Amino acid sequence: MLPYQEIVLRPGKEESIKRFHPWIFSGAIAILPEGIEEGDAVRLLSSDREFLGVGHYQPGSIAVRIMSFNDVAIDAAFYKERVSEAYALRKRLGLIRDNNAIYRLVHGEGDGLPGLIVDIYGVTAVMQAHSVGIHNDRALIAEALKEVYPTDAIKHIYYKSDGTLPYKADIGPADGYLLGGKDPIGVSIENGLRFRIDWEKGQKTGFFVDQRENRLLLEQYAPGCHVLNMFSYTGGFSVYALRGGAAAVDSVDSSSKAISITEENITLNFGNEPRHTSSSEDAFKFLKQIPQGKYDLIVLDPPAFAKRRGAVHNALQGYKKLNLAAMSKIAQGGILFTFSCSQVITKEQFRMAVFSAAAISGRNVRLLHQLTQPADHPVSMYHPEGEYLKGLVLYID
Ligand code: SAH
Repeated sequence: MLPYQEIVLRPGKEESIKRFHPWIFSGAIAILPEGIEEGDAVRLLSSDREFLGVGHYQPGSIAVRIMSFNDVAIDAAFYKERVSEAYALRKRLGLIRDNNAIYRLVHGEGDGLPGLIVDIYGVTAVMQAHSVGIHNDRALIAEALKEVYPTDAIKHIYYKSDGTLPYKADIGPADGYLLGGKDPIGVSIENGLRFRIDWEKGQKTGFFVDQRENRLLLEQYAPGCHVLNMFSYTGGFSVYALRGGAAAVDSVDSSSKAISITEENITLNFGNEPRHTSSSEDAFKFLKQIPQGKYDLIVLDPPAFAKRRGAVHNALQGYKKLNLAAMSKIAQGGILFTFSCSQVITKEQFRMAVFSAAAISGRNVRLLHQLTQPADHPVSMYHPEGEYLKGLVLYID
């Protein structure tokens, strides 16, 4: 038996684990070992002392993230096995083709590694920890990455967790390279388009990998359109719209840093591109100012309006307001791509918010596509919370 500390659950609280749900909430715990520390590996037992799983402990609402439902050690061999399974799936998806590719290698619970995100940009892996357990094991995970990939396929591993670890966690700044790190920032390719990705200073791991397929769909709708890419960040949707033959594309983001990266990516793909303009402005202010009918293709991809359950109500109001602003300004026969990436907001709630915006706008709105995240962001059937990206494509008369 492993020397891990043991957490005992209250009667009946083993049910969700038996259905392979990987989270234990703090209210389910009956006995917490004295002296247990944030990030410690633990064995979980039912109130009858039946073994349930091993995981990482964390004070807070989600108290344990289960790493395995078997009685195994969370060690180098464990990480190597999980990372190689994740690698095999991305190979199967055809995403590991050359040394420029962009894809997500590890998507937390969806890859049996709660608390861990790994995005790959060419020869660089960007690792992000959402739990102290994963933070403590970062060297083991980096080692697993090196072992699973062929020699030299990964030359840099950047660890970036300052913004994602629980803020109370008493950890000094740890962001930095676990491998390589000299002149790492190159150009990566998504669907044949070039993107410079700054994982050191950019948001998240540097790029929104999850919109890859939705950008391709937008490209198909772009010919001849006047496109507004609202919340453009590094300009992903704008670059696709331009390749798709848009008449004009305007990128808007409140961050001037994001806008300068957008411009850089436009130049990288098209050189001097007179069809593109960009402005760093607040979305609501911008939408208020534009003339009705100016745009016939609008993308709304805001940051998560709700990060916690308590924020859901206000977030839904925010989505409603934003979508109403776009719906009342879009040209007749216009297409609206609208997204929510808030994990705590369900598909149904988001749809209701958008539908009430449609009703208030008084326009005839039809639903063309329902979008989600791509297959390199897999969702465990036992952890439906992993399906976080929701998108609707609407046709507005
Ligand atoms: N669509 C992008 C990702 C968007 S991320 C892509 O495909 O890569 C959300 C972006 O919204 C961030 O870049 C952030 O700077 C921007 N943002 C946040 N609040 C904003 C606001 N009130 N108005 C405009 N942009 C905002």
